[in-house]
This record gives sequence, C-alpha cells and structure tokens, in this order.
Amino acid sequence: MLRVFLRPEPTGFPKGLIAGPLGSHQNLIGTRKLISEDIGAATTQVSHIQLYPFANPYKGIVDRPALIPFTNPTYAIYVWKDGRRFISELATRKECADYMMFTLKEKPTFSIFDEKAWPNFTKEAVMEEGLKGGRIIKADTLEELAAKAGIDPAGLKDTVERYNSYVETGTDLEYGKPKMLNKIEKPPFYALPQWPSVHHTMGGLQVNVNTQVLDNKGNAIPGLYAAGECTGGIHGACRLGSVAIPDCIVFGRRAGKNAAAR
Ligand SMILES: Cc1cc2nc3c(=O)[nH]c(=O)nc-3n(C[C@H](O)[C@H](O)[C@H](O)COP(=O)(O)OP(=O)(O)OC[C@H]3O[C@@H](n4cnc5c(N)ncnc54)[C@H](O)[C@@H]3O)c2cc1C
Repeated sequence: MLRVFLRPEPTGFPKGLIAGPLGSHQNLIGTRKLISEDIGAATTQVSHIQLYPFANPYKGIVDRPALIPFTNPTYAIYVWKDGRRFISELATRKECADYMMFTLKEKPTFSIFDEKAWPNFTKEAVMEEGLKGGRIIKADTLEELAAKAGIDPAGLKDTVERYNSYVETGTDLEYGKPKMLNKIEKPPFYALPQWPSVHHTMGGLQVNVNTQVLDNKGNAIPGLYAAGECTGGIHGACRLGSVAIPDCIVFGRRAGKNAAAR
C-alpha cells in the first residue's frame, strides 16, 4: 500500500522510512491492479501511516528484540545520544515516533534497563539472541554502557539518578509517567537501540459495511469484496494496538460469507 500510494515520496517525508519491510506491503500488487486497471475502486485515507517507534534502527524491521521496548515502558527509560529522556515511556506509539522523527531527527534512541527488569517483559532466548548479534548492548556500569552505545555518560548517569528518585517518590517530575515499577540500579545494564519504521497502512480500498468495494462515485462494485489491511478508513489516523486482527476476522468473515452467497 505504501509503495503504491507514496511514489514519488512526498517532500519532507523522512528519508528511509519506506525501507522497512513491514506493514501490508504484500497487499500492494493486488491493490494496484484494482486501481490501475480501470476497475475504478476508490481509496481512502491513504496518507495515514502508523509507525512502530522501536524497530531495529539499522534494518528497519521489527525483529524479536524490537518488541522489548513495547513491553517494558514501566520498567525502562528511553534516552537519546545525550543520555536524556525525551518523553514519557508510556506515551502513545504515535507520540513516541513523532518525537523521534520530527524533533530528535537523528537515530537511534535507546531503551535502557537493568538486570532485574528484563525477566518481567521478555524471555531469556530473546535477550541471548539480541546480545549475541550485538542488537542489545550490555555493560557492568552505566558509564561503560554509555561509552559502548555512543551515549553521553554524564547525561545518562544523571538521568538514571533522577529517574530512580522519581520511582522512589512515585512522581515523574519531567514527563509525568504515571507508572514506574523499577529503579535502574542492578548491573549489568542494557541499552537497546530503537527507531521508528512503517508498521501499518491505515488507508486503502474504500468499502461499505458489507465489505463491498466502492467505486469513485460511492457505488458498490458488483462481486468485489475486501477486508483487512488492504482496506482503509476502519481505524482512523492511528490504529489502537491489537485491533487489526479483529478487523481482519470480523470483516474477512463477512466478506467471505457475502462472496459465497453470490
Ligand atoms: C510486526 C507486526 C506486528 C503486528 N502486531 C499486531 C498485533 O499484535 N495485533 C494486531 O491486531 N495486529 C498486528 N499487526 C497488524 C496485523 O498483523 C495486520 O494488519 C494483519 O495481519 C493484516 O492481515 P491481512 O490479511 O489484511 O493482510 P496480510 O497479512 O498482509 O495478508 C495478505 C496476503 O495476501 C497475499 N497476497 C498479496 N498479493 C497477492 C496476490 N497478488 N495474489 C495472491 N496473494 C497475494 C500476501 O502474500 C499475504 O499472504 C502487526 C503487524 C506487524 C507488521
């Protein structure tokens, strides 16, 4: 979908964003046919793209370690190269991704956590995989971790000290994170580089509630049904996590029934 509708890339669109092999790019061949071969299918909201803020910054993919920041915001902090936090780690995916792409602009940012934190949000096998491949950086002190990761050591040390004091008092004086479950204090310490990549194409073929694909005049195209990520307008500008599969199941079932009944 992305490559169908965003060629050429619009000016100002962050470079490299389209490289990530994510989202429903596999749908594009079929969708392009529907539009370009004069079937006249209408599309909607094709400019809305959801980013996953914590992808592998060097490959643009959501590998297994990339799921760590998604599940660890109450146990970890996110910092930039200056060692400073830049957002509440419980901010939405859109807020996190937007801040990185449009304010920080330079990748990567890092998820920072300690030894006692990770069993709460990931598996040993994922940690081993990440450490072996160099995806996750590990060190016995925060200074060493910062040096290995290319983060300002003084900034990181100061940030962690302040964050730990917020955990103690229960009040995040900088970003108002409402839930902080872990002081970053037990070595070894870990840094996981992260950066936004394309995750979900919000736009696509325009359908009605019966999953019939509409033409540019809003009329149903006879015998043509669509469901799932190739359709648009179901989730609005930013999809809530986990609701794409229900979309696929509910409307996919409906589309199948309608098609079979013809
Ligand atoms: C990393 C990642 C994590 C996600 N996590 C979640 C989650 O936790 N919860 C959630 O709800 N959603 C999640 N999503 C979104 C969700 O997985 C997708 O929206 C959903 O799988 C889309 O399903 P689909 O059947 O519409 O499209 P797809 O799964 O893309 O299926 C389309 C199929 O059509 C095939 N195809 C394409 N062109 C042709 C052609 N010309 N001829 C024949 N076949 C063709 C493709 O090969 C593919 O098999 C995630 C997405 C990603 C990328």
